[in-house]
Formats: sequence, C-alpha cells, structure tokens
Amino acid sequence: MDTHAFKRSLHNSDRYNRRGFGRAEEVAGSLEQAYQSSLIGSIRENGYQLSHGRLNVRLAEAFGFCWGVERAVAMAYETRKHYPSERLWITNEIIHNPSVNDHLRKMNVHFIPVDQGVKDFSGVEYGDVVILPAFGATVQEMQLLNDRGCHIVDTTCPWVSKVWNTVEKHKKHVFTSIIHGKVKHEETLATSSFAGTYLVLLDLEEAEYVADYILGNGDRDSFMARFANACSPGFDPDRDLERVGVANQTTMLKSETEEIGRLFERTMLTKFGPIQLNEHFLAFNTICDATQERQDAMFSLVDEPLDLMVVIGGYNSSNTTHLQEIAISRGIRSFHIDTPERISEDNTIEHKPLGEDLTRDTDFLPSGPITVGITSGASTPDRVVEHVIQRMIAISDAD
Ligand code: SF4
Repeated sequence: MDTHAFKRSLHNSDRYNRRGFGRAEEVAGSLEQAYQSSLIGSIRENGYQLSHGRLNVRLAEAFGFCWGVERAVAMAYETRKHYPSERLWITNEIIHNPSVNDHLRKMNVHFIPVDQGVKDFSGVEYGDVVILPAFGATVQEMQLLNDRGCHIVDTTCPWVSKVWNTVEKHKKHVFTSIIHGKVKHEETLATSSFAGTYLVLLDLEEAEYVADYILGNGDRDSFMARFANACSPGFDPDRDLERVGVANQTTMLKSETEEIGRLFERTMLTKFGPIQLNEHFLAFNTICDATQERQDAMFSLVDEPLDLMVVIGGYNSSNTTHLQEIAISRGIRSFHIDTPERISEDNTIEHKPLGEDLTRDTDFLPSGPITVGITSGASTPDRVVEHVIQRMIAISDAD
C-alpha cells in the first residue's frame, strides 16, 4: 500500500478530523473537574515541595500530562460534545491511564474489543465515530475505518506523526528503519505499519547484536530466530542492513535511542568509511521533548536525599516504566502504582516491581520524618497525583 498517498487522501476527507471541533471552552470545565488539582498547583508554586507534619513530599519538576496527551483527551471530550448521539468508539485506550479511560467509558465511549491480542472491529458500523488515540493507529486500521464509512477523529500526537514521516522518508530512500521500541506497543505497531523494511530493537543490547552482525560477526539463523517477530515480512539481514535509519517509540529513554543511533553510525562508518557514510546511515532527531523533560526531572529528583519514590502511571505505560527504571538504577526504594487506591489506610501498598507481577508491601511509609519523591508518567492527570499525596498524608497523620 502507498501509505503516504493514503494518508494524504484521508487528510482531505470530510469524514476525518485531526484539529478538534473548536469547542475547547465547552469542555474546559469538565476537564478541570476530572483531571486538574489545586493542591498540585500550590505544590508547584511552592518550589515543588510540600511539608506536612513528618511527611515531606518532593515532586519532580516535570511530570504528568504532556501537551500531546492533554490535547488528545480534550479532543475526545470535544468529540462527545460534537456527536452527542452517534456511537463513539476508540481504537484503544486513549492514553495509558486507567482513570482517564474510566471517564471516557462513563461518557459512553466504547473501546474496540480485543480477543487474544486481535482487535475486533465487527461492531463498528457506517456512520460511527471513531477516535484514534494519542499514540496513533496502524495504517490498516485507518483504512478499515475509512472503508467502513466511519468518521475518524485522529488525536495522534504530532510528535508521533513526525516519527511516521521519518520512516516514510526511510522507505522513500530505501533505508531500513531501525525502530527503538517495544514490538507490541501500539505506537510501535503503528509506526512500523508506515515503514517499509523495518527491524524493531528493544534496547542497546539488541542493537549491539545487530551492529555486530552488520560487521560480519553473526549467524544468520540465530539472527532470524531472535528477531522473527520484530521485523518486516521477508526481512533479510544480509540485504536489509546495508542502509539504515533510526526511529523510535517516542516514550523510550532518549539517552538509549541516541546511543543506538551513535552505535549504528559508528558501525556504518567502520564498514563503509566516511565518504560513503551518508549512503548507509540516516541521522534522526524526532525524540519527544515531554518524555525527555520528565526523564531529566527524574534524574534531578533522584539526586536529592529521598527515603522512597512513588512513580504513578499505567502499568502498560512505557514512559512511566522508564521513570521507575531511573529510581531503581539509583538504588532508591520505589513503588510503581497506577491508581491512588493501591495505597491503603493500613499503610500497605500494592505495587508493580519492574518486570514482575503486582505485590503488596506492608510498612509503606516508615515511622519518623520521611521524604518521598513523586513523579508520574505523561498520561497521569494531576488529580490522580493529588489523591496519592492525600493518602500518604492520611497515613503519616495517623502514625
Ligand atoms: S509523550 Fe510526547 S509523543 Fe507522547 S503524547 Fe506526549 S508529547 Fe506526544
């Protein structure tokens, strides 16, 4: 499929909207009530600190909703106003946050059901309105919805669209897209649907394996066994790693994406020499600022003396998981929770250690003076952070 031409024709369709409906004022009140917080506003004004009895809270200086998410959520609310009686669908969680998705369910927005990892669009009918989430949708999904005569409201973050343009460029100039991302993440699925030849790499370790292969140090069968589910159909490592460009899932660690980029640049330099480098490697700069800002703020926060960290965000939120990784790398006792309800009055906390199942810890807040660092992923509303802090205040007061 000519994805570029399809996208252009979709953008010109009168059943497609990616700019909202000019109803921002009408939905502002509901958004404020559902997601904003005066407590968080006052903590921000107080240098991102709160002292309450024995409890000191230190907030990261950048956390929570990024503008791409804010924009997507506002567009979803506007869509409901604009189509008050039409059947409204969303192809996936609009963002990875349970409370936001619950609010949408209450507004009678239907989520496309998923059966064993496969989305079932059979309930979607001509004339239905379908919202595409902040991290986008695959080109095949867009085509299906368009063919079915749906109205499409596309809230894909412009940063994500920028990555899609990058992989389109790779395709046009016959470069393989090396996508730094999680192979099953919706954003990476969407990005690879716009790519021509691609290979998805999770981390630097996988990138080093591939770089080594490019330099002639690998075994083809082991390569294919390792990346069978992470590459485009018909991918041939001996043919398709001659010319590469890098792209990423926007919520991966920026430092790692950059390192992967530098690794492939060095590899191509070694293999082909400086004069031919541009024929074999395409530089890349489409890393989302919001993810970077939250990561930088987290690095500053973990430099302070903290007794523990609470990282708030959906368990399937990539950028939240990366914030948790930073806390772990500094050896700080840290808890990843998705909702305030994970913290109970009896000072227990149900949380998800990195790569493990949910677990419950007692003595969440130790006795005596305590400093807690808090951050949240780009899809967590301030209101959720407020409720987490209120629960901690209640526990510290009771002690
Ligand atoms: S984290 Fe970045 S790419 Fe993702 S929605 Fe927010 S602004 Fe867009």
